[in-house]
Amino acid sequence: MEDFIVGIDLGGTNFRLAAVNLEGTVGDRMHCPVESARGKEAVLGDLVSSIQALAKNQRSTRGNMLAVGLGAPGLIRSEEGIVAESPNLPGWIDFDIRTPVEAALGIPLAIENDANCFALGEFWLGAAQGIRDFCALTLGTGVGGGIILNGEIWRGADGMAGEVGHMIIETDGRPCKCGSHGCLEQYASATAIRRFALEALESHGKTLLRDLRKNAEELTAQDVFEAAKKRDELALEIFRKMGHFLGIGLTNLINLLNVDRIVLGGKVSGAWEFFIHETERTVTERAFKIPARRAKIVKSLLGDNGGILGAAYLALKKIGRVQ
Ligand SMILES: [Zn+2]
Repeated sequence: MEDFIVGIDLGGTNFRLAAVNLEGTVGDRMHCPVESARGKEAVLGDLVSSIQALAKNQRSTRGNMLAVGLGAPGLIRSEEGIVAESPNLPGWIDFDIRTPVEAALGIPLAIENDANCFALGEFWLGAAQGIRDFCALTLGTGVGGGIILNGEIWRGADGMAGEVGHMIIETDGRPCKCGSHGCLEQYASATAIRRFALEALESHGKTLLRDLRKNAEELTAQDVFEAAKKRDELALEIFRKMGHFLGIGLTNLINLLNVDRIVLGGKVSGAWEFFIHETERTVTERAFKIPARRAKIVKSLLGDNGGILGAAYLALKKIGRVQ
């Protein structure tokens, strides 16, 4: 018999959950759509029934479900168990998740911003084990970030700290969905890579990217990655450009925080070999020498599991099973 935690990664389109034992081994997992159109209470109901189904499976072979950890996008007031607002979950404004989930399951729920969960997962079992000062960035459709200082999430006065993706790196840059301009997210995400490709296709001569899709609008960041693997010069140039902008963002973080490590995850980090050289070069050129030498830039070790493991770690902390 072995007790377990349920870790959940809630996104705008689906949620993933898994049973995690006290050492962080991931057991059964599930994957369900977020049917936002049915309303937030219905989504919460789906979440609870999925947790119950997962726990039922686990209980036949393992011990008890001790707690639930949930990572959710947006501004989370973790002390109160509330989603304050979330661009990916429309209508979830000051929405109390903890009270109904704890009432339904009879065990504690810990909730935290999803990028912070990713950082905690890497701290517990990934690329930042034993590192007390670091930043973790998820390079996906957008750019998420978590800052860990002295072994704890840096939440700031309103719980909104760590929005690394909205650090401004170009004063009159691309408009961002946050309402500002020139945010890192507009230059170092999958969305940015696709946009760089579409812009370059208008002027660039021969490139595999032109042959991949009949309709350029269908081009994806994955296509650019595939072309880079075939040494297409335009695709390689796009990743170098993205790598440079990422380096500017990391330079700001390194100069501000003097962190020991920067962990990069998310789908775009899969293209590591094509952007990291330019990122490191920019940091070496632009950051203060001593903190730049200190800050190791490393790839996430947990991949897709990072958020779930971080949420599980948070739940373990809540019930006093880890320090
Ligand atoms: Zn922004």
